[in-house]
Amino acid sequence: MGTPLFPQHVIARKRDGKELERAEIEDFVRGAVDGSWADYQLSALLMAVFLRGMTPKETAVLTEAMMHSGIIADLSMIRIPKADKHSTGGVGDKVSLHLGPMVAACGVAVPMVSGRGLGHTGGTVDKLESIPGFRVGLSIPEFRAQLEKIGVALVSQTAELVPADRKLYALRDVTATVESIPLICASILSKKLAEGIDVLVLDVKFGRGAFMKDKARARELAVALTSVARAMGKPTRAVMTAMDEPLGHTVGNALEVAESVECLKGSGPGDVMEVTYALGEQILVLAGTAKDAAAARAQLERSVSSGSALAKFREMVSAQGGDPRVADDPAVLPAASIKVPIASPSDGWVTGVDALGVALAALRLGAGRARAEDRIDAAVGVGGLAKVGQRVQKGQPLCTIHANDKGRLAEAHAILAQAIVVGAASVTPPPLVGEIIG
Ligand code: URA
Repeated sequence: MGTPLFPQHVIARKRDGKELERAEIEDFVRGAVDGSWADYQLSALLMAVFLRGMTPKETAVLTEAMMHSGIIADLSMIRIPKADKHSTGGVGDKVSLHLGPMVAACGVAVPMVSGRGLGHTGGTVDKLESIPGFRVGLSIPEFRAQLEKIGVALVSQTAELVPADRKLYALRDVTATVESIPLICASILSKKLAEGIDVLVLDVKFGRGAFMKDKARARELAVALTSVARAMGKPTRAVMTAMDEPLGHTVGNALEVAESVECLKGSGPGDVMEVTYALGEQILVLAGTAKDAAAARAQLERSVSSGSALAKFREMVSAQGGDPRVADDPAVLPAASIKVPIASPSDGWVTGVDALGVALAALRLGAGRARAEDRIDAAVGVGGLAKVGQRVQKGQPLCTIHANDKGRLAEAHAILAQAIVVGAASVTPPPLVGEIIG
């Protein structure tokens, strides 16, 4: 037995800017799970890391220790490459819903474990739950069996995967220590690497509606994520994408599922498809099933034009207990009782659609959670959103509010009327897909 570690000594060393030893980091992670570190000691170390940072070596050790805090899905029986994509979160980001089936239709398995949304709008699993009957809580054996049979499963995080993150994230949330690059890196990568994947592609967003608003900080995060993942032996790339206006024309759970089905049918909005193809190309190239981005793009396009990606989606929905008719008819999804358009106040061009404002309006309508225990209303949200650069005439709808409550409708209306700006001169939206890192 070595010398016992005392949390206060580990905290003091990080407070004084020292590099922590592997044993100290492992003790901290163990302490988060077994309660041998008190919440105030965990929080103190989190704050010390927030202020002092971590070296790439410390971050890799933290990631590894967190990853091993629970079980690691063993998917070795699945013989095809296994890949996942993770987005740092954006408004109207429904890409996972259709990208998973598209990639699976191209011969790469997608074992995707996603979170529920907090703040803003729902997360991927909240969106999927708007499909009547859809079960996101598969056991590991069910998850494995579905991947073997269909090649794609989209599920919620289980209690067995990375319990240390659940504890630490909850503390970070209430101690102002979320926005720390090493802590974000370890949180994201420990969960993704516990899925048993071979390769990982990250969508790192920047802009008003993103978690990291500043592009330089988002780039720093992308570099840290890809280098830590690579140090852990996982080929990983990050695609930087802009998140100033919402992605696509919809924000809200059932509305986004319907839009995702449009993407699978070949009629998805241009911006959603641009991000989808950019991420899908990197997945197929990293997984080794396409020789370059152009070949990957051709495969992905074929998965849509041939209907094989839509068929995969239908199979996945059915396997997870959902109503497979959603792939053909959005009318099976819950719909709001009140639909009210917001009209353009003048002739002109849409010069801004503030993603954060739209997200706030959707939250007011009940599409997201202000607190973890809040219930989501799957039917509500914002549809028919105009895009920056679009020409509009006075009276033409800039969006339609889908509400189930008149009070909430009025609040959302006031926010949206400010969030969507019409000007007298045309503007060109900035590029959506930026640098690829890793
Ligand atoms: N998403 C995560 O899963 N963890 C973080 O720390 C931040 C975003």
